[in-house]
Amino acid sequence: MVLDPAHGGTDLGARGTGGIHESDIVLEFAAQVRTALEAQGFQVVQTRQGNANPSFDDRSAMANAQRGSIFVTLHIASTGVPGTARVYVMNDLASAADATGLIPWDRAQAPFVSLSRKLGDQVSALIAQRFKGSPAAAQTASVRQLRTTAAPAIAVEISSVTVEDRAQIDHMAPGIADAIARGAAAFRPTYVVPANPGERP
Ligand SMILES: [Zn+2]
Repeated sequence: MVLDPAHGGTDLGARGTGGIHESDIVLEFAAQVRTALEAQGFQVVQTRQGNANPSFDDRSAMANAQRGSIFVTLHIASTGVPGTARVYVMNDLASAADATGLIPWDRAQAPFVSLSRKLGDQVSALIAQRFKGSPAAAQTASVRQLRTTAAPAIAVEISSVTVEDRAQIDHMAPGIADAIARGAAAFRPTYVVPANPGERP
């Protein structure tokens, strides 16, 4: 399991008027998500521990290096109703393999899109139960970080940095952590690594 606190370093991510930075908050969320995942028996690797900013490709590579990995990237939005959260999965990527039968790096997610949606729907359902007004199913979008990841991969986006008091976001962390951990645990028995990376599972 690779857990990705997005942004970092000089990239602060979304910023609110109260001096709240996305890059800081996602680190705190990651710590709680990690604990919840470990309680479900997952081995967790983080793409960054502190205020570094690895490239998109470096972050994806941490998942791509292991067979059977799961990738979760955490974001705090500048939009959306405060107190809600949503899960994004990559939209369908055209033809997985090129003429040589190999999957180009920038479409690494292609064979995993349907697995990502299963994982995303599990986590979304739990988030929607806990945080009213959140979508109960995964949303699709073109997410750069997910595109190059060769594993079931979701982006979890929490609203929002616009709150006056940071505590309004922080108090969501235990519920988000629980939803991700229980969603991943429910997904785990259905996760069969695609045998031929050129074919959809
Ligand atoms: Zn972000």
